[in-house]
Amino acid sequence: MNVLKFGGTSVGTVESLKNVKSIVEALPTDTVVVVSALGGLTDKLIATARMAAEGGDWKSEADAIADRHYNIINELVREERRNDVSSIVSSLIDELRRTYEGISLIGHLPEKTLNVIVSLGERMSAPIVAGIIHNGHLHNSLDFIKTEKWFDKNIADAVLTRDLIIKEFSNIEKGPHITGGFISQDRDSGEITNLGRGGSDYTAALIAAALDADMLDIWTDVDGFMTADPRIIKDARVLPTMSFIESMELCTFGAKVIYPPTIYPVFHKNIPIRILNTFNPTAPGTLISDSSDSKEFPVKGVTAVKNTCLVKMRGNLTENVAQINTRAYNALARNGVSVFLLAQPNENHEFSFAISSIDRQNASRILNEEFAPELIDGALDAITFEENLSTIAVVGEGLKYLKGLNGRLLNTLLRCGIKTLACSEGNSDTTASFVVEEKDTVEAIKAIHGLFF
Ligand code: ADP
Ligand code: ASP
Ligand code: MG
Repeated sequence: MNVLKFGGTSVGTVESLKNVKSIVEALPTDTVVVVSALGGLTDKLIATARMAAEGGDWKSEADAIADRHYNIINELVREERRNDVSSIVSSLIDELRRTYEGISLIGHLPEKTLNVIVSLGERMSAPIVAGIIHNGHLHNSLDFIKTEKWFDKNIADAVLTRDLIIKEFSNIEKGPHITGGFISQDRDSGEITNLGRGGSDYTAALIAAALDADMLDIWTDVDGFMTADPRIIKDARVLPTMSFIESMELCTFGAKVIYPPTIYPVFHKNIPIRILNTFNPTAPGTLISDSSDSKEFPVKGVTAVKNTCLVKMRGNLTENVAQINTRAYNALARNGVSVFLLAQPNENHEFSFAISSIDRQNASRILNEEFAPELIDGALDAITFEENLSTIAVVGEGLKYLKGLNGRLLNTLLRCGIKTLACSEGNSDTTASFVVEEKDTVEAIKAIHGLFF
C-alpha cells in the first residue's frame, strides 16, 4: 500500500481539491491519505491569534476562515456526508472563535493556546477531504501521533507512535483512509502539540514506516525535487532521481519541498519517496530511494538556510581543532542545539561553526559554561556571534568525483563580489557548504547554480 500526503498547496481551493479527489479515487482502496490545512490557513490562524492578543478585529478574520471552509463543503462534500462534515467543522469554528475571544480578553497568547489554534487547520481539512473522496474514512491523528518534550521542543515519541499507528490501521474497512498531518498530542499531559511547521510530511512518513508501505507519495505544487528553489532560479530543473542522503542534506539545508525529519523513518525502512505534482499528475516526479545517479548527476542541488549565526572562538588553545570542535559540538547537542557547519579554522587561531540564529542565546550560555576554565585563564579570548548570515550548500553524492570543488566555489563567489565568511571543513562527502552575508543569498545561489546546471 501507499501513503499519500497532500500539502496545503494541494488542498487550498475547490479546483485543487477536485484533482486530489481524482488522484485518490484512481488508486487501490487501501491507501492512507495525509492532508495539511487548507493552503495558507496555518499562517492565517497564527496571524489572527496575534491580532486578537493585540486587540485587533479578529472577528472578521474568523468569519473569512469559516466561509472558506463552508464554501468548500458546499461545493464538494458528497451530499450524504455534508451534514456530518458541516457539524464537525462548525463545532471547530466555534472552538476557534471562543479561543480568539479568550485571547483578546486576556491580551496575551500563551504557547499552549497557539498550539490549539493551529491544530484546528488540520482538524477541519481532514473531515472535509474524507467527505469529498468516495468511501473516505476519517482517522483522528491526535489518537496516534504522540510527542514528548525535548528541551523546549515537542518531538515524536517514535515507538509509541508506531505502535498506535499499527493498532489504528489494522483490521480496517476498505476505502481510502484520511487523516490530518502536523498535529499531535503530548503523551504525558494530553495537550495538543504539533510536529513543527511543514510537519504533515513527517506525519505521512511515520505512518508509512509503521505500516511498511510500498511508497510514500508527497503531492505538492511542483513537478518534483528541483536543482534549486524554483522561486529563486527560474530555470531550475526537476531531478528524476536522488538518494535518501541527498534529499536529507538538501532539506536540512533549506529545500522546502520536504520537512527534514520526514526522510529518516522511511530511509530506515527503505521505503521510496516520490515527489509528485497535484496540478500535473502525469508528470513522472522525483523518485527518492537508496540509490543515487551520482555519475550522471554528481551535483543534485544548491540550497540556502537563512538565519545563520556564525559562532567564533578565538584563542591560543592547547587542544587541537578537532577536540575543540568536538567539545563545542557535544555541549551544544546535549542541550538540544544543532550545529550544521563546522568551518575550516583560519590562520588567526579562530574556530567557527554555524548554528541557527534561533539558538543563539542558548548557545551563548552553553559555550560560556563549557569553556569557562579557558575563558578565565585566558586560553580563549572570546566567543562571539555573528548574525544576518546565510549558509549556502551544494549537495550530491558525486561531489567526491569533483576535483578542487571548494576552490571553484570560492572563486565563483569572489568573481561576483560575494565575501565568503566561513567554509565547511570538507568532512562530508555529500555536501559542501559555506557562509555568506544574508543579503548575498540570492546572488550566491544563482552563481553556484549556474556553475553546475
Ligand atoms: P506543500 O504545501 O505541498 O507542503 P511546500 O510549500 O511546503 O508545499 O513545498 C513546496 C514548495 O517548495 C514548492 O512550491 C517550491 O516553491 C518550494 N521549493 C523550495 N526548494 C525546492 C526544490 N529544491 N525543489 C522543489 N521545490 C522547492
Ligand atoms: N499546516 C502546517 C503548516 O502550514 C503543516 C503542513 O502544511 O505540513 O505548517
Ligand atoms: Mg510542505
